[in-house]
Amino acid sequence: MKQLVILSGKGGTGKTSVAAALAHLATEGAQKISIVLADADVDAANLELVLAPRKLAQEDFWGGKVAGIDQAACSGCGECVDVCRFEAIHETNGVYKIDPIACEGCAACVYVCPTEAISMTDQIAGEWYRSESRYGPLFHAALYPAQENSGKLVTLIKQHAKLLALDDAHDLVIVDGPPGIGCPVISAASGADLALIVAEPSVAGVHDMRRILQTTEHFGVQSIVCINKADLYTEGTKEIETYCEEQGIEVIGLIPFDLNITWAMASGDPVTAYEPDGDASQALREIWKRVLSVLREQQE
Ligand code: SF4
Ligand code: SF4
Repeated sequence: MKQLVILSGKGGTGKTSVAAALAHLATEGAQKISIVLADADVDAANLELVLAPRKLAQEDFWGGKVAGIDQAACSGCGECVDVCRFEAIHETNGVYKIDPIACEGCAACVYVCPTEAISMTDQIAGEWYRSESRYGPLFHAALYPAQENSGKLVTLIKQHAKLLALDDAHDLVIVDGPPGIGCPVISAASGADLALIVAEPSVAGVHDMRRILQTTEHFGVQSIVCINKADLYTEGTKEIETYCEEQGIEVIGLIPFDLNITWAMASGDPVTAYEPDGDASQALREIWKRVLSVLREQQE
C-alpha cells in the first residue's frame, strides 16, 4: 500500500481537480487499482463536491481546550483579564466571561486565578466522516469556523484512511492535501511515499512551488510536479521547468487551460469522466501513468 499526497503552494491551482481526475483514472481501465481517498483540506473540503459521496459515518472532532469561569467561585479580582494576551476575557457589571472564539486555550488564566474558578474543557472543533464515493472509500472532514488544530484533524483523517487501506488491502491512498506550507500541509505530507505538486505559472508560481518543495524535501518525501494551465503564461511555465530541472525534480506533465475542468466541477464530475477526450483529460491521463510508474519504481 502506497500513499500519494497532492499538494500546491497556494490555493486555486486546480489541486482538487487533479485529485478527482486521478481518483477516476486509478479505478478505470485494464490497469485499475483500488484506492482510498482522504480529503485533507479540512478548512475548505472540496473533493466531496466533485465526488458526491454517500456518508456512512459521522464523528465529532475534539480539538483544543477552552477556558470557562465558574461564576460562583469568581471573586472578581480581574487578574485573568490582565494575563490573557488574546483579550478573550471581558468584564461586564462585575461579571467575568470568556469568549470561546477568542480563547486560544493557553491556560494562563487558570494558573493566575486565586480562587481556582477557571477550568479548561475540551471542545468539539468539527466533524469527520467516512463516506463511499464512486471510486472508493473517502475520509473527509469539516472544521468549524474559527477553529484551530486543523493539523491534528488532517492526521486523524489520514490515519483512518491508511488503516482502512491496510485492513482491506487497497493499493493506494490518495490524499488531497491542504494548500500552503503550514502545519496541516506537514501533517498531510508526513508519511507519504510521493508528493505530486500542482504548480501554476502565475507570477508567484515558482515562489509558491519552491516553498512547498522545500517542505516536502525537509520531510524526506519524494516530489514530482505537474503544471496546470501551463499554456496561459508560457514564461512562467518555463521558469518552473528550469527550476525543477536545476533541482533534479521531474515535471511529469503540463495541463493546458481547458474550460472542461470548470464545467466538470460544476457538474460534479472529474474532468476525465466529464470529457475524456478533452485536452486536460489527455494530459491528466499521461500524468497518472507517470505517477503509477514512479510509485512502482520505488518498489524496485
Ligand atoms: S486560556 Fe489563555 S486565551 Fe483562553 S481565556 Fe485563558 S488566558 Fe485567555
Ligand atoms: S482571576 Fe479568577 S477570581 Fe479573578 S476575575 Fe478571573 S476568574 Fe474571577
